[in-house]
Amino acid sequence: MSTEMEESESAAHVLLLPFPAQGHITPMLSLAQLLCHAGIHVTFLSTEHNHRLLTQRRALSARFPTLHFESIPDALPPDQAPTIHSLHDISSSLRSVTKPLLRDLLITLAKKDDESYRSTTIRCPPLSCVIIDGIMCFAIDVAEEVGIPVLALRTVSACSFWCYSCIPDLIQQGQLPFQDQDMDHPIRDIPGMEALLRRRDLPSFCRMPIDHPSFKFFMEQIEAITRVSAIIFNTFDDLDPLILPQIATRFHKIYTLGPLHALLKSRVGDDLSSSVSSLRHEDRRCMAWLDSQQSGSVIFVSFGSLAKLSRVQLLEFWHGLINSGKPFLWVVRSDMLSSGQEERATPVELEDGTKERGYIAEWVPQEEVLAHKAVGGFWTHSGWNSTIEGIWAGVPMLCWPQLVDQQVNSRWVGEGWKIGLDMKDTCDRSTVEKMVRALMEEGDQREQIFKSVDNFAKLARHAVSEDGSSYKNLEKLIEDLNEKI
Ligand code: UDP
Ligand code: UDP
Repeated sequence: MSTEMEESESAAHVLLLPFPAQGHITPMLSLAQLLCHAGIHVTFLSTEHNHRLLTQRRALSARFPTLHFESIPDALPPDQAPTIHSLHDISSSLRSVTKPLLRDLLITLAKKDDESYRSTTIRCPPLSCVIIDGIMCFAIDVAEEVGIPVLALRTVSACSFWCYSCIPDLIQQGQLPFQDQDMDHPIRDIPGMEALLRRRDLPSFCRMPIDHPSFKFFMEQIEAITRVSAIIFNTFDDLDPLILPQIATRFHKIYTLGPLHALLKSRVGDDLSSSVSSLRHEDRRCMAWLDSQQSGSVIFVSFGSLAKLSRVQLLEFWHGLINSGKPFLWVVRSDMLSSGQEERATPVELEDGTKERGYIAEWVPQEEVLAHKAVGGFWTHSGWNSTIEGIWAGVPMLCWPQLVDQQVNSRWVGEGWKIGLDMKDTCDRSTVEKMVRALMEEGDQREQIFKSVDNFAKLARHAVSEDGSSYKNLEKLIEDLNEKI
């Protein structure tokens, strides 16, 4: 056997298993590139649907020869994109259909002498570790069964994760389920955020009865994640100095590598665009429209890949935006509205204002948009990727959270980090107009917010630089993976 072959036999080989939704694929693919850049072999395992949508696979494998893409059936109709309503179906089909196939694949990849797999890959060493998305709990059972160490990448914020972890305590103390519906009632028993949260800021599933299947489903996840060897977070130490030590009291090994998209650029360089992980076609003409706008004048509105709006909500938002008088770039996905295209039609009274000041897109290169000098504010649903991308770009945020972790993130944006305004649980046109103006117009409030977000943007730059915490934590993770954890 050649020396090269021996070296490759001893190298680490990690299987990455993302949850099949955009906000989960993007950070996992950044992690994949970072590990491959350090010479680690990575098998990136997507469900068949997303595997097809990842059109940049070939370019990525050419750039990173140790990056292998594999797919696994998800038992969904070939053209079914995930929607927020189908996610639970996806999760159950992953459990029933994908789980046994994953077991077979792990057994095959773990074998030292498996010719069938070897013949299709470049000197790929046997599998030494699995990094799952933290919500793919079924994969923990499989990895344990096959005897392979398992780590989790948690794509939510550290503060949301910590809230999730404290939910069993809140139940024990009788704070959940809510005794009455006073949503502003303070929640004081989550260490590290004692004076911050109200009932309305808890993860959205806390609004359900605790015997609801979705609530139970999240409780299962909270329980299962305690079994992984380590957790990776897409945050940086200076963003969460109160929360990370709390998490460390219950989880003995954590790696903070955020912002992952920026760490990737810092370590690997800029030769592949941020769009490599996009599952949708991007409307790049919006960049030329932004070029034509004044510096700091545009509010960018994007609610991520899963959020749903009713026609009534859409209209309230639309009126509010037009009435604010600010130019806006708005991502309105066709699957964002319950019954499709006709709901997106522009009402007659909004036609002029939209033509004059608006650009409506199906999907945009969000990281590039946030970095554009014309963008002065970001109205977001507070998904964690969007939030950390906004922090990196130093753009003040207006938050309209809908689901799960977004409720916690928006509270942190508004009152924790003070880098934006929280508009949760409201959506009438006059509130929208008022909040957009408050975010975009000069004044003490905007100045304070701007100062704070600018400070975090600088701290984020330090975190991914050679002396920074995320950079060093990545080195540590690579070392641990090479030692097979
Ligand atoms: N979800 C799901 N199955 C899971 C985990 C999450 O269906 O195993 C759904 C959950 O109901 C939520 C969405 O996936 O609507 C996003 O989950 P999460 O908050 O964990 O991640 P995010 O996309 O907000 O980063
Ligand atoms: N995104 C994008 N173009 C868009 C809208 C969103 O590239 O037009 C990306 C965004 O940059 C982020 C991801 O989609 O990386 C959304 O993830 P997030 O966690 O914010 O929300 P989710 O989609 O999980 O609700």
